[in-house]
Amino acid sequence: SLQVEGVELAFGTNKVLRGVDLAVPAGHTACVIGPSGSGKSTLLRAINRLLEPDAGDVKLGGESVLRGDPDVLRRRIGMVFQHFNLFPHKTVLDNITLPLRKIKKLDTDAAQEAAREQLELVGLKEKAAARPGNLSGGQQQRVAIARALAMKPEVMLFDEATSALDPELVKGVLALMADLAQAGMTMVVVTHEMGFAREVADQVAFMDHGVVVESGVPEQVFTDADSPRLRQFLSQVL
Ligand code: ATP
Ligand code: MG
Repeated sequence: SLQVEGVELAFGTNKVLRGVDLAVPAGHTACVIGPSGSGKSTLLRAINRLLEPDAGDVKLGGESVLRGDPDVLRRRIGMVFQHFNLFPHKTVLDNITLPLRKIKKLDTDAAQEAAREQLELVGLKEKAAARPGNLSGGQQQRVAIARALAMKPEVMLFDEATSALDPELVKGVLALMADLAQAGMTMVVVTHEMGFAREVADQVAFMDHGVVVESGVPEQVFTDADSPRLRQFLSQVL
């Protein structure tokens, strides 16, 4: 399980996270929705220790992840970004093997075997030798997901993984994410895809101004929201 407890984070005087609480049981998918600037990306970065919270705690399996080696944590938490962040001059296979060798310290053979296994899983086995630039955006994002999955993380974080994709490519990536959720991965998914949130999430959390204002099962959040701010947000996006 992943627990975010009272996390606060400021950039200078700009308090971006003002006490975020979020609990995601093992095997659950939590979708985080909310207006631009509400702190969704900052929250994911704080969970993954790309940013250090000023206060509060993040726990994985009951233990705090804020102390100790950040590399150890990044083996346990995978993250997928809007803009893939693949190395353009490396092959698809090398993109996936690199963190396995550098962070997981696998030898080349073991890393390649793990990478090919993940590529097969995301349906891109035949693209192992290609460069990212010769793939579609949807394929590149599936490579980025394979790269994160190859580390065998306990939790996957997705930050608007489909926002940069052409509309016809969005479905394939969402389907892969839905398969992962179905397979029991613990996931936190920041998304503007309300259909995905409604159908796939076990829990939907609405963030506004640096706090989770309301969270619940999709049915409740989408059809019976308590908070006026959430109702207003939904009226704009649905
Ligand atoms: P969007 O839906 O547009 O992606 P978001 O909810 O992900 O928005 P964040 O990216 O978390 O929002 O940003 C929240 C606030 O933090 C914004 O006011 C932003 O300007 C500020 N912010 C984010 N990253 C930084 C940074 N590295 N340095 C300074 N301020 C930042
Ligand atoms: Mg964001």
